[in-house]
Amino acid sequence: MSSQTTAGFIKSPVQPVRMELDERFQFHCHPGVACFNACCKSIDITLTPYDILRLKNRLGITSTEFLVRHTTRFDMDAHGLPGVKLDHQSNSKACQFLTEEGCGVYQDRPSACRYYALGTVSMRKKAAANEENFYFVVKEDHCLGHNEPKTQMVREYRHEQGVDDYDELNAEWRQVVLKKRSCGPTLGKPSSRSLDFFYLSSYDVDGLREFLKSPGFSETYDIDEPFMRQLLNDEVILMKFGFRLLKQVLFGEATIPLKPDALEKRIARRRAEQPIS
Ligand code: SF4
Ligand code: SF4
Repeated sequence: MSSQTTAGFIKSPVQPVRMELDERFQFHCHPGVACFNACCKSIDITLTPYDILRLKNRLGITSTEFLVRHTTRFDMDAHGLPGVKLDHQSNSKACQFLTEEGCGVYQDRPSACRYYALGTVSMRKKAAANEENFYFVVKEDHCLGHNEPKTQMVREYRHEQGVDDYDELNAEWRQVVLKKRSCGPTLGKPSSRSLDFFYLSSYDVDGLREFLKSPGFSETYDIDEPFMRQLLNDEVILMKFGFRLLKQVLFGEATIPLKPDALEKRIARRRAEQPIS
C-alpha cells in the first residue's frame, strides 16, 4: 500500500474529494486483477497500536521483539513524537509480509492496508471536544481496482475490511495524537523521557506490562487488585489503559488515581538508586 496513515491522516498526491459514510465509490480488489499485489511492492505504512498488537500475536513474538525486528521509529511531528513504520524487505520497498500468494498476514494486516483505496482524514479544531472524520478515494496509476465494476458505500467497505474494530480500538490513541498536534507549541517540547513514554505506552504493550509490574508504577498509581489482574491478563484492556496513562501524563487528564505519598516515595527511590560517589 503506497498511501499511509499517520494517526488518522493519509498522505497522498491526490487532492481529496470529501466523502461521507453513505456515499458510494467504484472499487474492487481481488486476486483476479492484473495488478494483484502491486501495491504491496512499494509500501510506506505507519502502524497504529492495535496493528502492532495483532501483528505481534500473529507472529508469536512480544511487541518489544516486533518493534525491533519489523519496524523503524520516526518522528511524527517537529517535537519528535514517535511513530512506527513497517519495515520493507531488504534491498526493496516491498512489504516484508508479501508472499507469492499475496499478503502473508492477511487476517491481521494493518489498518492502512485495510483502508486502501480509501483514505481518511481526522481533524480536531482547537475548541472542539471531538475530532471530525471524512473519507476520500485514493487513485494511483498502478491500481486497476478502480476499473472494476463493483460499487459500495464507504460504510460497507469499512465493515468488509474490518476497519471499524481497528478504528474503535485505536480511537483514544488518535485523540491523544491529534490533541498533541492541535496544542502545538503551547505544550512545549516534550522531554526525551516523555517521548519514550509515549513510544512505550503506544506501541509496546508487552513492555508496558513489565512497567506495570515495576516498583516505579506501584508506588505511583493506586490500582485495585481485580483491575490490575485484568491489566496483566488482557492486552486489549492494557493497551487502552496505556492511552489513559498518556492522557494523564501528557495533558493532566487525571483518570488513574495516584497514591497519596507517590512523589515522596519516588524521590526516595531515585536517591537510593543513585551511586554513592
Ligand atoms: S501487510 Fe499485507 S496487505 Fe499490507 S502491505 Fe504487507 S503484504 Fe500488503
Ligand atoms: S487493485 Fe489496487 S489494492 Fe488491489 S492489488 Fe491491485 S493495486 Fe493493490
